Amino acid sequence: MTLRLAEEHAVVVRVAMDPGRTLECPRCQAACSRYDVRERRWRHLDTMQYRTLLVAEVPRVRCDEHGVVQIAVPWADPGSRFTALFEALVIDWLKEARFTAVARRLSLSWDQVAGIQERAVRRGLIRREKQTPRRIGVDETSFRKHYEYITLVNDLERDRVLWVGDDRRKATLSAFYAELGEQGCAQLESVAMDMWNPYIWATRENVPDADNRIVFDKFHIAQHLGRAVDEVRRAENRELVAQGDHRLKNTKYMWLTNPDKISADRWQGFAPLRDSRLRVARAWAIKESAMMLWNYARRGWAERAWAQWYKWAIRSRLEPIKRVARMIRDCWAGVMNAASRDVTNARSEGMNSKIQWIKRMACGYRNRERFHNAIYFHLGGLDLYPISLKSAHTKV
Ligand SMILES: [Zn+2]
Repeated sequence: MTLRLAEEHAVVVRVAMDPGRTLECPRCQAACSRYDVRERRWRHLDTMQYRTLLVAEVPRVRCDEHGVVQIAVPWADPGSRFTALFEALVIDWLKEARFTAVARRLSLSWDQVAGIQERAVRRGLIRREKQTPRRIGVDETSFRKHYEYITLVNDLERDRVLWVGDDRRKATLSAFYAELGEQGCAQLESVAMDMWNPYIWATRENVPDADNRIVFDKFHIAQHLGRAVDEVRRAENRELVAQGDHRLKNTKYMWLTNPDKISADRWQGFAPLRDSRLRVARAWAIKESAMMLWNYARRGWAERAWAQWYKWAIRSRLEPIKRVARMIRDCWAGVMNAASRDVTNARSEGMNSKIQWIKRMACGYRNRERFHNAIYFHLGGLDLYPISLKSAHTKV
């Protein structure tokens, strides 16, 4: 092994192979004869301040079954131009820092960083055992300019993303169920989702006894009601401002925030508005009361409470609220499933904020594939490190 400082201020490490070593096919491990030898180079961890390259003459062998193939080297995964230790370093940095920062600090191009992330995810997915989730959550998130969507399937028990698919159509979720297989679908105890018809149709078609397993969770119902309250507020604010009344200006978040998360002072200050006869105050009261109708020990109790709520909401004369009320009526069984058993919703919310973080970290993905990869990378709970990482420490 020789160390040499080359022209471009890189340390070049030449690795020579033991000439007496028997060569084997990397795919079937059969002993093979040498076909030819080619020089290959890999970027390795820096030596002091210098970029470091590993250079070796690597034989190709002729395997009866697999043709001419390059033998495996113990320091790098097949096809990679980086050593396993270098890839592991990039993976560790990617967990902490923005894509562009990783590229800049390690003198890599964006594509190189993306390639390392992509390989890491591919390895992780191959290594992952067959998944047999019992409780899943289906979520959508927007991609790029908010008019394209992707669908995420989360394992709610293990709090990780199981599957990512393009779009939010029936075919999208059906593709997940197809991968899960008939047996996997039969093992699902609950599927928490938004009241979104394509997801409902896909689940009815693939999951046995779907109507007893579909759960329209609190998180999604809170989202719909929050949007309805905001719609009422905006319309009312416009009318008030036209009359010179600015009471509702800058109050958006007070109406949308969970009261538990508002400080006592601000809650006090909010009292005149929420106790007022404004339409938004009425919409808010209906939303907040819906937030109490969960965790019933008995389904009958949940049914009675929600039936009361529905009557109130549908007579509210607030069109956005009535719209959500009708949506709940049409998805009645799934809402009752959610309200009367302990299906966790907090996780869904946590996952959502992590997805937002991933979007920020990447400052826009050039394509869906990379966004998928980033989600699996950060939230898939995968084993991402190179296969050859362990053997990288062995003597060459
Ligand atoms: Zn072979």
